[in-house]
Amino acid sequence: MDAEQLVCPTCARAYPPSERFCESCGMPLVHSASADRSDIGQEASERRRTARKIKPQYAEGPLVQVARAGSQPEAEFIAGLLLEEGIPSVQRDLIGGYGPLAGARELLVPESAAQAAREALAWERPQPPRSGPLPDSG
Ligand SMILES: [Zn+2]
Repeated sequence: MDAEQLVCPTCARAYPPSERFCESCGMPLVHSASADRSDIGQEASERRRTARKIKPQYAEGPLVQVARAGSQPEAEFIAGLLLEEGIPSVQRDLIGGYGPLAGARELLVPESAAQAAREALAWERPQPPRSGPLPDSG
């Protein structure tokens, strides 16, 4: 058997394999190599999967706002919907909100994806915000 080194997950001290717990903080020790691999592998594959979903034609142009969310979970949900369509999105805090606006966020997408994003989100909003042409289309 190899003498694999153990580390404390909290304070990262190294210990010989005969130890079970961290002397300084009492945490159960983990194998340094396996702990690292599982963490990094999961995050990297998640990121790769996200990157592969995004369509390059939706990643061009300046950012425009397509949706507003009342909270971070709502914003994450909308971002997930957009990603399913291959649309990358950026969340921005709405600063200066007191009371009902606190925690609100807006979602922005590249201009080339704005129309697709609005269509992707349309089923979620049965009532359009306004009818007729936008005042500043041009
Ligand atoms: Zn420790």
